[in-house]
Amino acid sequence: MAKPKLRLPLVQDALTRHTRQLAGCTSCAGMIGPVVAPPPVVSPMYLMGQAPGPHEGELGRPFAWTAGKTLFRWFGSLGVDEANFRAHAYIGAVCRCFPGKTTSGGDRVPSPTEIQACSRWAAREIALLQPRLVVPVGRLAIVQVLGQERPLAEVIGRSFRTTFHGHEADVVPLPHPSGASTWFKMEPGKGLLEQALKLLGRHEAWRAVFEDGSDVQATSAVVSQRSK
Ligand code: SF4
Repeated sequence: MAKPKLRLPLVQDALTRHTRQLAGCTSCAGMIGPVVAPPPVVSPMYLMGQAPGPHEGELGRPFAWTAGKTLFRWFGSLGVDEANFRAHAYIGAVCRCFPGKTTSGGDRVPSPTEIQACSRWAAREIALLQPRLVVPVGRLAIVQVLGQERPLAEVIGRSFRTTFHGHEADVVPLPHPSGASTWFKMEPGKGLLEQALKLLGRHEAWRAVFEDGSDVQATSAVVSQRSK
């Protein structure tokens, strides 16, 4: 079982510095700030979203709007509420700024250049945290983590062992919980989502954090630091 090579206080300090640097990033001229920089939660679980929507920047946290409500309802079905999840899992993303809207009103998909530019932040987070479980949420994140585009029906409800940014970890993909998506509301998506959530709830990293508490010592240091 991989553990961070640095001792916890060093990982915590490095992640806190990383978060400050991330918050100041202005690399992409076409992105709309502010950067949504997640709190520096040291965790064996790394959830990777796609990109913030128009509300997350103002609210200062990822998954703060309607998609987040659905995502945290899914985790609630495993007995983990939003506050508990946010306190104990790292929430990264493919891109950390709002890409803006398309002319048809949907959120713009980040360009390959923007995805490449932002990947350095995830690479640093993976190097520091060395998560045992990576949870990519939505097609864009799944492609980044698994390294190839595959139909959702082939990846949701399954777990993978893959190397992401040079680190080997288990991967349990989830569909994007967007209100605009119907994929997870009807079969086969509905049943595959249930299967994916079962895999998450049974994973040893999930259980270590939310059930037996063996990884809570690591994350509780962050929570207490944030509350100061
Ligand atoms: S999307 Fe990522 S790389 Fe681009 S400006 Fe925002 S934080 Fe920086």
